[in-house]
Amino acid sequence: MRYCFRMRLPLTKSSDYLREIMIREHLARRGIHDPEVLRAMREVPREAFVGEGMQELAYEDGPLPIEEGQTISQPYIVAYMTEALELSSSDRVLEIGTGSGYAAAILSRIVGAVYSVERLEGLAHSARQRLAMLGYSNIVVHVGDGTLGWLEHSPYDAIVVTAGAPQVPKPLLEQLAIGGRLVIPVGASYEVQILVRVRRVSEHDYHREELCGVRFVPLIGAAGW
Ligand code: SAH
Repeated sequence: MRYCFRMRLPLTKSSDYLREIMIREHLARRGIHDPEVLRAMREVPREAFVGEGMQELAYEDGPLPIEEGQTISQPYIVAYMTEALELSSSDRVLEIGTGSGYAAAILSRIVGAVYSVERLEGLAHSARQRLAMLGYSNIVVHVGDGTLGWLEHSPYDAIVVTAGAPQVPKPLLEQLAIGGRLVIPVGASYEVQILVRVRRVSEHDYHREELCGVRFVPLIGAAGW
């Protein structure tokens, strides 16, 4: 099993420069090749999504702590998951685990609409403010238990879960459009998961692939932990 964990680089330069290094060294060199994903990663200022005093760490290739004991994911893993969703510009995407809003921002630069669900009210509130400030208007953030999906806007062309689940939540499979892709970390432990991609091939058939080893905070809810 290949692990997609962190790498470190010393940081001293401007955000634009560091973002270019991130694209080149952490993403392109490690196999991210979808031009739309690279463009989105170049466009979104990750420093706006990390906590006070953490801005200079924003372009290290690692996760960082955000409020309420949660994390903003490592840039490489955000790019990897986004690429694995095989997005097109007209897609409607559901994200579970808004957190800082960074992954939602990346998705919103590629697709038509992003619906993002966060269980913690405080995080959802700050993410909404941040996304509005950056002018990203095709993202709706909802407070709720994302293990149940968000029925109202289903079916989705793609669903991405950015927290580790004990198994693939059934409501998410049901809310996937035929031809749709679900990318989700799944693991029997709280600590390490396998990133799984499930493709809905027909009304009742799904195809499941294992992509790589990952580490996420737990997905907590009715169909989670
Ligand atoms: N995508 C985020 C990273 C999120 S970390 C970013 O780019 O910053 C995982 C997030 O999932 C946390 O904010 C956590 O509160 C949230 N979460 C955990 N269980 C959840 C659930 N059942 N529904 C919605 N959000 C959940």
